[in-house]
Amino acid sequence: MTTALSAPATLDERIRRDPGSFRVLSGDRPTGALHLGHYFGTLHNRVRLQDLGVETFIVIPDHQVLTDRDVAERLTATVEGLLLDYLAVGIDPDRSVIFNHSAVPALNQLLLPFLSLVSVAELGRNPTVKDEIAHSRQASVSGLMFTYPVHQAADILFCKGNLVPVGQDQLPHLEVARTVARRFNERYGPVFPEPEALLSAAPQLLGTDGTKMSKSRANSIALSADEDTTARLVKGAVTDAERHITYDPEGRPGVSGLVLLAALCLGRDPHTVAEEVGGGGAAVLKRTVTDAVNSRMAPLRARRAEYARDMGYVRAVLRAGNERANAHADATLAEVREAMGGPVPAL
Ligand code: ATP
Ligand code: MG
Repeated sequence: MTTALSAPATLDERIRRDPGSFRVLSGDRPTGALHLGHYFGTLHNRVRLQDLGVETFIVIPDHQVLTDRDVAERLTATVEGLLLDYLAVGIDPDRSVIFNHSAVPALNQLLLPFLSLVSVAELGRNPTVKDEIAHSRQASVSGLMFTYPVHQAADILFCKGNLVPVGQDQLPHLEVARTVARRFNERYGPVFPEPEALLSAAPQLLGTDGTKMSKSRANSIALSADEDTTARLVKGAVTDAERHITYDPEGRPGVSGLVLLAALCLGRDPHTVAEEVGGGGAAVLKRTVTDAVNSRMAPLRARRAEYARDMGYVRAVLRAGNERANAHADATLAEVREAMGGPVPAL
């Protein structure tokens, strides 16, 4: 663990002091292969927390793929790819629960009371929803897109998750989950924690086009990419006309995104990496990035290939995770019903 990836001191200290008082919930939509933004933005932190002894849940929100597209294409293959990525980065299925949303029906039953706790206006002004609508492949905005943050609240709160390692873009969604928890507790009594976000030092890694690296934007470098593909993608990344390389995220997002990527892979300070490349320009920078990514990812890619030889095991990991997630979700739903006044009599 490099210091560059540490969480803010106070939260980090609290986690170290008492890992048993935290429960992590995090996840990734199965819309494509996991990329370096996921690795440095959240996956690395999830593994670190798991290894510190924090109970960890990982949701694969499969139905939520439909928030911004009409059809969930290649869903099974994508979910299996995510499972391989998790195992390859060091998620241990004995200590972490990996499950997919559609296999846990109680999550959708939590959604109804949760929806009643937020207003349409609040959902409408959520900046992440607005951004996702702007990048959506659909002609009109579906109700599912609109209510996405509330689905996510159910995905976090069903297991009483109180710590969520996320990228920057998810902060507004997490705010909705906090609001839902707080209002539920005020209205019906204390049931849920108010989950805290845990950002890494790379809360928004940029893609090869200089905007947020995203599975759906054809600008990402997958964890599972081979060395040649990585080299090709880095070569095509946008830079700028200034030859001398500097680290200036505001003024030079393209170049600085590449510098940061190399620095994260090497566990070094981005300013130092930029100084070393200096007059070598974009060509040297891109070579540095390619080598850094390929050597940092090599062990992970080798482990991934190993796991891929036994897909029976990989699927069993998900089955076991779904069983454990269902047990938690059913228990929480029973608690919610109790808090809300129990079932209608004589039904
Ligand atoms: P999509 O394009 O389908 O929305 P995505 O690449 O944005 O995919 P998500 O599944 O939406 O990935 O996000 C999963 C997690 O990874 C979230 O916690 C998100 O904040 C984080 N994350 C995604 N992209 C980045 C990035 N570029 N840098 C840092 N964290 C990221
Ligand atoms: Mg996203």
